[in-house]
Amino acid sequence: MHHMTLAEIARGLADKKFSSVELTQTLLARIAQLDPQINSFISLTQDLALSQAKAADERRANGESAALLGAPIAHKDLFCTQGIRTSCGSKMLDNFKAPYDATVVAKLAAAGAVTLGKTNMDEFAMGSANESSWYGAVKNPWNLEHVPGGSSGGSAAAVAARLLPAATATDTGGSIRQPAAFTNLTGLKPTYGRVSRWGMIAYASSLDQGGPLARTAEDCAILLQGMAGFDPNDSTSIDEPVPDYSAGLNGSLQGLRIGVPKEYFSAGLDPRIAELIHNSIKELEKLGAVIKEISLPNMQHAIPAYYVIAPAEASSNLSRFDGVRFGYRCENPENLEDLYKRSRGEGFGSEVQRRIMVGAYALSAGYYDAYYLKAQKIRRLVKNDFMSAFNEVDIILGPTTPNPAWKLGAKSSDPVAAYLEDVYTITANLAGLPGLSMPAGFVDGLPVGVQLLAPYFQEGRLLNVAHQYQLNTDWHTRTPTGF
Ligand code: GLN
Repeated sequence: MHHMTLAEIARGLADKKFSSVELTQTLLARIAQLDPQINSFISLTQDLALSQAKAADERRANGESAALLGAPIAHKDLFCTQGIRTSCGSKMLDNFKAPYDATVVAKLAAAGAVTLGKTNMDEFAMGSANESSWYGAVKNPWNLEHVPGGSSGGSAAAVAARLLPAATATDTGGSIRQPAAFTNLTGLKPTYGRVSRWGMIAYASSLDQGGPLARTAEDCAILLQGMAGFDPNDSTSIDEPVPDYSAGLNGSLQGLRIGVPKEYFSAGLDPRIAELIHNSIKELEKLGAVIKEISLPNMQHAIPAYYVIAPAEASSNLSRFDGVRFGYRCENPENLEDLYKRSRGEGFGSEVQRRIMVGAYALSAGYYDAYYLKAQKIRRLVKNDFMSAFNEVDIILGPTTPNPAWKLGAKSSDPVAAYLEDVYTITANLAGLPGLSMPAGFVDGLPVGVQLLAPYFQEGRLLNVAHQYQLNTDWHTRTPTGF
């Protein structure tokens, strides 16, 4: 039962082959048995899951049949869940039970999805390896000595290990697409504003976007359908109609213009990954796509700009964690200053502290123009590069990451080495564009992802291309040994 995709589960439930309660019990038992190996969950919500599954079975018995009705999922632990710990992977919020549901959580619950638990993540979503979680590192099911990627490493590892078919995640600079690439999944970062950020604990508000992680594009379409849409509670949510993503999966790729940026194939890219990317290009050409070389000349400036803007916004967002209103408070503070200093010093891990300091510095009087303002100007140039590229092509294709998943601990003492691994993903966040990563093969037994980017609100196009590719390839069907 655990090998089924969301689409297969929906059919099985509709045909009464099994109930949502049976499926939920099977997966909860599997999580209890296997998760100790990979550490992908921070909290399990067995009681909630069983009551949601029972309610979904009753709704199906009464004639309802929506795709997510009775489907088991999990939420990255930065989506607020009412009455349930929402830790953001941090000691700071270890004792925080959210007083309300995030819009994404509420929408998926209303659609009938069953929440099995909350998944592990890098602390406050800062990281690319899921090693900065206060709850310990997550292991990659493809090789337990390697990282699963981050920051949505818990959601990715859980889905890759077949503990559940799909999970929610968020992407500020690649945290859906990069773990998808490292664990052989399909992951979609929607257009900024497509999915509500209300109740999603903020890292960098102008970059953060929630989206689905699953094994197939077909399943990403189902989960995105349940997540997307206008939300008056989020002032950056955009009031655009949500298309039927599943209905759009079967469009022909005949004549689809795919742009391949020449800057993507530079020295930093593992040549074995480059070869797999070229294979995926050939596959899409067979399906009728036309390839065109393009240029994104400002790509080289994207990492420095991102690592000013994201920490700047984080330093502001995380100022609310002061040991007074909620979250961790140090023992026996001597005075107010001691309370602030020790609560934040003890509650935040080292990567979060580093980013708060970088961000506060970049925003400080005297440095604002030199760093923050300049980074914002680069952000506009990066966006303009994409706008001119999309005058000529329908999607942009390239690697998701320059290297496959590294060994646990390999980059922990060198944060900049980890930042450089984000080179292909962060530009989409700076520009607010939708991006998808899908399985493209293996290097040394570790999965490799190919990334597709599209113009604003063309999530459907990304899912269509990925689905057609997956109908003609079988990388996404491979299962890690032992799971
Ligand atoms: N690796 C990037 C960072 O650490 C992206 C993280 C994310 O997308 N949440 O900022």
